[in-house]
Amino acid sequence: MNEPQQKPSLDDTDGNCRQCGHPFDPNIVVAYDMNDFSKGGEVRCTVAGCSCFHSLDFDLKTAP
Ligand SMILES: [Zn+2]
Ligand SMILES: [Zn+2]
Repeated sequence: MNEPQQKPSLDDTDGNCRQCGHPFDPNIVVAYDMNDFSKGGEVRCTVAGCSCFHSLDFDLKTAP
């Protein structure tokens, strides 16, 4: 069997954030530079009072 390569995911098997435990669904993805997604971005939790965020690499297949 060929196992697909698993990236470490930010959400657990229930779809909740591994860090704060809030539902992962309506999180906001923010790019640091809208003109250059290769710089990455972050996912922010939208739950009020929660300042949890995760840095994020956009999966772009860009040539250098
Ligand atoms: Zn979180
Ligand atoms: Zn949260």
